[in-house]
Amino acid sequence: MSGITHERLVKLNRLFTSYEIIAEGTEVFLCDMRYDYSRWSRRMVEVYGLPGEYMENAGEIWEEHIHPDDRAGYHKSIESIFTGESVGHDMQYRALDKKGKYHTCTCRGIVLGDEDGNLEYFGGVIRDHSPDGEIDPLTGLRNQQAFFKDLAHYLEGNETIFIAMLGTTHFSRMNDLYGYDFANRILQHNARYMLEHYGNIGSLFRLDGIKLAIISRSITPEEFREHYRTISDILQGGYLLDGKWVQMPVNCGGIYVNDVETGMNGIKTGVNTVYSCLTNAYEDSKYNHQGDFCEFEGGMTVRRQNKLDLINMVRNSVNDGCRNFVMYYQPIVNAKDESLAGAEALLRWIGPDGRVVGPDEFIPVLESDAMFPILGTWVLKSALEEVKPLLEDYPDFVINVNVSYAQLQQHDFVQNVLSALRETGFPARNLCLEITERARMLDMDRLININFRLVRQGVSFALDDFGTGFSSINILKHLKFRTVKLDRKFVMNVLDDSKEVNLVTSVTRMARIFGATTCVEGVEDARMRAALLNSEVDKMQGYYYSVPVPMGVFRNKFCSGQNETEEQKSV
Ligand code: C2E
Ligand code: CA
Ligand code: CA
Repeated sequence: MSGITHERLVKLNRLFTSYEIIAEGTEVFLCDMRYDYSRWSRRMVEVYGLPGEYMENAGEIWEEHIHPDDRAGYHKSIESIFTGESVGHDMQYRALDKKGKYHTCTCRGIVLGDEDGNLEYFGGVIRDHSPDGEIDPLTGLRNQQAFFKDLAHYLEGNETIFIAMLGTTHFSRMNDLYGYDFANRILQHNARYMLEHYGNIGSLFRLDGIKLAIISRSITPEEFREHYRTISDILQGGYLLDGKWVQMPVNCGGIYVNDVETGMNGIKTGVNTVYSCLTNAYEDSKYNHQGDFCEFEGGMTVRRQNKLDLINMVRNSVNDGCRNFVMYYQPIVNAKDESLAGAEALLRWIGPDGRVVGPDEFIPVLESDAMFPILGTWVLKSALEEVKPLLEDYPDFVINVNVSYAQLQQHDFVQNVLSALRETGFPARNLCLEITERARMLDMDRLININFRLVRQGVSFALDDFGTGFSSINILKHLKFRTVKLDRKFVMNVLDDSKEVNLVTSVTRMARIFGATTCVEGVEDARMRAALLNSEVDKMQGYYYSVPVPMGVFRNKFCSGQNETEEQKSV
């Protein structure tokens, strides 16, 4: 029998009961550290076949149940608690029940000190996830479903959490290089590594595909940034696995969520909103920061909160039949005579305070959101409906509609475009889809196929933002474009630098080789236009002609004359 005194036992039981009351569906453990004497929830005793509710040395007994791969991490954590190095843990491991099945458990505990600062109690809760559900069979980590469930739980409880998403670039190369089985071993290895080293900062999940996520209630983004440096050094620097050298670039994005209830719209931030923002931070790391850790709206609590609220409201609008969205139109003119050639349709969202919110504030975040294509379809249909009446007087008017990478990824993209044309009775030849070079990330064959099928039906394409990012003429070689749009940054210094005019001429000549015309964006004043007239550019667009405006204004401003001759149609 243990040496615990009666008085201490009464105290243990009292504390235990209070823990149980607030534990809500989780199991409780409480250890009197002076005597290393613990009490555990009845259910744990039954499910895991523990010696009894009261145990001496419970830490060691429990360790026997822990999966051999997870044991070292657990041991280290318990040791550091009993030596006073750490004040608690929040970790995940697999534990063997009495029927011989492993359950994934998330365990959170803290140490309470007495008035003299000595360790007195170690207590906490264990959440026992069922042995079959919500576990990724390959890595043993909890899966995406579990991730969403936990996230919802934390948001509901207004808990402050930090979430990180980690992934590797070109993982498919591992498949090609080493075969599927070995690539799986790499994934397993990475997951184990993460669990061993970072299992005690929060819960780890395997998301769909090869990404891992951590949700932590204790760590700050700054602390995580440090951890991530080590992780990326190890994975990026390379390691030996089964005699093979494995090296891969890693990316990581994070988001710190607190004050979720202070949302100005009174609507709670939803899991999908947080997930979209997290994905956005991850993509920022992958595409713009060579794998460095990126935090969503990093550091600035107020800005991040506003942004989260905005994204949440915009998402809700989409789910509410794309309410509060409007299309604005910006004229595109023929360079030579400034006659109206068409327009670009640009999306706007109207906030509850009537503020017109530009797409740069929400599209980059929502682009990879599963609901984005719904908005894309709404954009296309709205533009076609609004522009159609103009075609009576302007039969050659071309409406340019922006299409994002995520939309092109949809398997039914071509059918969607064709049905929008059919439903609105809009002639295909008057529609031009603007795609950016980001589309190159799509499988080229797929892109060629989309381009070919739509061009065959009369729809045309424009290559947007040419001159930014990784421009390549490869895409021009493979796809059919009506227009190459030169980005504003490309011509911004056209007045000070005559080379820029020559550059526009060169690009225009090159575009011609591929049967395309050019359009410069961002023509802001008469001097810029005059300078650009010395190039051979075909079309112009910019504030000099007009800022984007709603269709009513557009019609009055640019299409008021009925049945004008070509020369009269000047803007
Ligand atoms: P973008 O396709 O490059 O669109 C041109 C942007 O430049 C527009 O910003 C336009 O207002 C702005 N702009 C036009 N002329 C000038 C000028 O002279 N000076 C300056 N400084 N800016 C000028 P906006 O409307 O804020 O759109 C930003 C981006 O959002 C667009 O860039 C496009 O990538 C995206 N976007 C807009 N509407 C849609 C949409 O319906 N679907 C998708 N997928 N993306 C959209
Ligand atoms: Ca565009
Ligand atoms: Ca553009």
